[in-house]
Amino acid sequence: MQTRLTEMLGIQHPIIQGGMQWVGLAELASAVSNAGGLGIITGLTQPTPEDLFKEIARCREMTDKPFGVNLTILPTIKPVPYEEYALAIIDSGIKIVETAGRNPEPFLPGFKAAGITVIHKCTSIRHSLKAEKIGCDMVSVDGFECAGHPGEDDVTNLILLPLAAKRLKIPFIASGGLGDGRGLAAALAMGAEGINMGTRFMVTKEAPIHAKVKQAMVDASELDTSLIFRSLSNTARVFKNSVAQKVVEIESKPGATKFEDIQSLVAGVKGRELLDGGDLDNGIWSAGMIVGLIDDIPSCEELVHRIVADAEQIIGERLRQILPV
Ligand code: NAD
Repeated sequence: MQTRLTEMLGIQHPIIQGGMQWVGLAELASAVSNAGGLGIITGLTQPTPEDLFKEIARCREMTDKPFGVNLTILPTIKPVPYEEYALAIIDSGIKIVETAGRNPEPFLPGFKAAGITVIHKCTSIRHSLKAEKIGCDMVSVDGFECAGHPGEDDVTNLILLPLAAKRLKIPFIASGGLGDGRGLAAALAMGAEGINMGTRFMVTKEAPIHAKVKQAMVDASELDTSLIFRSLSNTARVFKNSVAQKVVEIESKPGATKFEDIQSLVAGVKGRELLDGGDLDNGIWSAGMIVGLIDDIPSCEELVHRIVADAEQIIGERLRQILPV
């Protein structure tokens, strides 16, 4: 499959592994890149910009294919020196960056001067148009199905992707609810140049998280995610465990919820312990609705090849047969 995504990024298959806090380490990013997709190291998972610089160097030892770095700008418990992380990315020689959260405009001059291709993750068409206007090279259109932060509009990819096809000039990729060949074929049909997957890549052999977390996602249905932080306008889709249910319960009490009321439950460090140790009720972890379609734990190579082969079969056979000869 050749699309503007594969051409612009110099990759074999139109599949990206998006940024995932605590999951986007060199092990996963290199495995995805070696499989012919684009692996992405999650910047803020590294405790300091210097650590990010070293993680990028470590990833280079594990793959000679292109990979990128994610820089997410969202509310955090501790202040983050974003400028320093951006400089570490530039100094490392990385050529592909996925930005997410807030408007990445302050970072664009530095990234552009370094010849970096910027893919901005957007949960709405107005943000996508803005990303195009400020000079992003591509957008990753993140539907309501997605893990992590879907925004506050609750519009699914069946609407967002055709809208993006109608209104954007720059290429876009589909993100959220993608994890199989049907999804890839559908995203391409709706005008996307490829797909971005997070949750699906968490459930692979190389994902650096505990086997119990992977198994919980295999066992889960499409109903097993929860939306938290709605009351704080920082909505996040996470796996529906006892902690997520407790947070939703606290948020639904009369009166305004203060972040302090839930901070100890949702802190990223607790989520990291959960992903490392496998205690499924230690904190929260991001998971998308795609958990309902995940039923195995393949290698990244097996997964990427299966998705591409299935999509090719759908496009070349099923869709072709629908047209009269
Ligand atoms: P953290 O421990 O600082 O915060 C935990 C969660 O609480 C995060 O979802 C954060 O957005 C939210 N939060 C923090 N302060 C808040 C406030 N004042 N009001 C409302 N919500 C608040 O986060 P972390 O685990 O160290 O992650 C760092 C950042 O990277 C977070 O913003 C996280 O969401 C983001 N991130 C998200 C994704 C994703 O969407 N999958 C990927 C990469 C990074």
